[in-house]
Amino acid sequence: MDFGISPKMQDILARMRQFMEQEVYPLEPEASARGFKAMVPQLRAKRQKVRELGLWCPQIPREYGGMGLSLLEHGLVSEVLGSSTMGHYCFNCQAPDAGNMEILMLFGTEEQKKTWLRPLLEGEIRSCFSMTEPDRPGSNPVWLDTTAVRQGGEWVINGRKWFTSSYDGAAFAIVMAVTNPEAPPHKRASQIVVPIGTPGFKFVRNIPLMGHEGDDYDSHAEVVYENCRVPQANLLGTEGEGFAIAQERLGPGRIHHCMRWIGICERSFDLMCKRAASRELAPGKPLGTQQIIQQWIADSRAEINAARLMVLEAAWKIGNVGMAAAREEISCIKFYAADVLLKVIDRAIQVHGALGVTSDTPLAAFLRNERGARIYDGADEVHKMVVAKRVLSRYGLKIS
Ligand SMILES: Cc1cc2nc3c(=O)[nH]c(=O)nc-3n(C[C@H](O)[C@H](O)[C@H](O)COP(=O)(O)OP(=O)(O)OC[C@H]3O[C@@H](n4cnc5c(N)ncnc54)[C@H](O)[C@@H]3O)c2cc1C
Repeated sequence: MDFGISPKMQDILARMRQFMEQEVYPLEPEASARGFKAMVPQLRAKRQKVRELGLWCPQIPREYGGMGLSLLEHGLVSEVLGSSTMGHYCFNCQAPDAGNMEILMLFGTEEQKKTWLRPLLEGEIRSCFSMTEPDRPGSNPVWLDTTAVRQGGEWVINGRKWFTSSYDGAAFAIVMAVTNPEAPPHKRASQIVVPIGTPGFKFVRNIPLMGHEGDDYDSHAEVVYENCRVPQANLLGTEGEGFAIAQERLGPGRIHHCMRWIGICERSFDLMCKRAASRELAPGKPLGTQQIIQQWIADSRAEINAARLMVLEAAWKIGNVGMAAAREEISCIKFYAADVLLKVIDRAIQVHGALGVTSDTPLAAFLRNERGARIYDGADEVHKMVVAKRVLSRYGLKIS
């Protein structure tokens, strides 16, 4: 395997890094004080600059107007953009839109592509993904209460969802709903596009995340579908294919997320080292002279390096051998990178002392936004179970 970064990618990454440092990091204090919605006009201007630099939609094939990067290449990009909470948004490769773009490219009809995909690619609209329910375990995605029933050329949708991230200000949701309760568990649900504003599609609240309600893109909504009717043509793919489509979305999505986390790790690490070198415990005695701080730095360095290599290997395997063959690696990186992420952020906060828990550095926002990393995209425990089961099966122990 060759982890060498091509001259083409080195150039792209350097330009992106420069953009992040010069154009995005300076917005962070204002974003922290005013919230995401207030930043949208400025972020729109940044997005225009990204387009002019030819760095728009890095993960999207060229025929759809993107940069056409491979999964591994986009992983490297995701690390650079992940260093700020606004990075991916500026380049139009933010979750959940990136996943929804992918689904629409793979499974959308021409009409769906025209109506939903094109404006997403242009950055004119945003979208959300509505699968998790408050009353059912997200860890068992075949057990859903939300239903969609065919009636007079329409789907009638009923159910309650939460953690429909970025609903606030989005143009449509892709909802996962049971369309055939009698089918085998993995064939019961379908994905359906529901425009926001459709009668019966009701907003309940933005759920505070660690006490932070957020707004616009930076939010997680609870929503209700109450006799909500959309045309049958809003079905994505074929009926009963909801889980298969979700799987398509999750594999590459995990690479994007994990590399984004590595980006957060590197930024936190950088802040930690700067503080360790500059904060004096006594005249002429910086914090970094203490062995325990040195250990945090050394451990963080090694763990970030290890996590990055694991994620890049998984990306390489998905790209070269296929998603099914990379299942074990995908699960390993999910829980390993999430664990490294939270350890590194926590150490960086600790080195900053009281300053670390204020909003004067991005560290507190990193922790607030990313505590969920061990929960979303499959809880860590579920991924550990997947890995252990597959390993043990090679030793003759089959666990159902
Ligand atoms: C920040 C954030 C953003 C999100 N965005 C979205 C979104 O945009 N759209 C969407 O649909 N959903 C979203 N989610 C929801 C997410 O997908 C679910 O939270 C996740 O699937 C876990 O489901 P749950 O919360 O119902 O936890 P549960 O399934 O109730 O699990 C609770 C805990 O039980 C343990 N557990 C579960 N299964 C097992 C097992 N087999 N063995 C041992 N332990 C186990 C784990 O520790 C787990 O954390 C988001 C969540 C967060 C935190």
